[in-house]
Amino acid sequence: MELQLSYRLETIATLVPDGARLLDVGSDHAYLPIALIEAEKIAFALAGEVVKGPYESAVSNVCDHKLQSQITVRLANGLEALESSDQIDCITICGMGGRLIVEILEKGKDKLADVDCLILQPNNREDDVRAWLVENGFAIDKEVVLKDKGKFYEIIRAQKGEMSLSEGELRFGPCLMKESSAIFTEKWQVECAKLEKALSRVPLDKAKERAQLIEKIERIKEVLK
Ligand code: SAM
Repeated sequence: MELQLSYRLETIATLVPDGARLLDVGSDHAYLPIALIEAEKIAFALAGEVVKGPYESAVSNVCDHKLQSQITVRLANGLEALESSDQIDCITICGMGGRLIVEILEKGKDKLADVDCLILQPNNREDDVRAWLVENGFAIDKEVVLKDKGKFYEIIRAQKGEMSLSEGELRFGPCLMKESSAIFTEKWQVECAKLEKALSRVPLDKAKERAQLIEKIERIKEVLK
């Protein structure tokens, strides 16, 4: 049976380099590895999952698709799934909070020597993810912002290399800011409206809280100009 990826996962799949040896961390159904192998974009993937139920569903999907020779599923925490003999050169970590993604990368740092490409899709705290990349020798070469089933998602791809980012670039994304797509504008207009609503509920005597919100709103308006 052919796998129908969500628009979010389909977009992530397009960012995986052709011929990559992929580790997908948090691969609850192994959908991304299965779709990439079936599309013949890659020939080998590791699917890592830390929770038993999702791990078992990844194992069963890989069997159903008869891809056991091309996809290895491991029950493992983060980059502990990775063994040097796997020769993994690209890692995807998607659909989790930004801080969890950073924690996984930080804990597994010593396993990244041969990894050229990271594709990360944090559900929040994208700024923390970008800051980790800056500090750990990865340079962003591609970013996508998309809307899937009413939710906005940012995807960040980085390759080994140096980069420095301003505070604004950490928050809004260096490539996303430059492109300033219609979805990017919509995402930040929605965020701005939420902050303005929050501000309207903060009593006038809470000056510090109000100032923080006003600063965030002004930074968004500056970028949307
Ligand atoms: N990556 C898929 C996607 O983007 O659709 C699944 C996202 S799902 C919301 C997050 C998955 O990551 C869960 O199955 C969870 O058990 C797994 N996970 C969370 N922390 C993990 C870790 N440290 N190592 C491996 N898997 C983890």
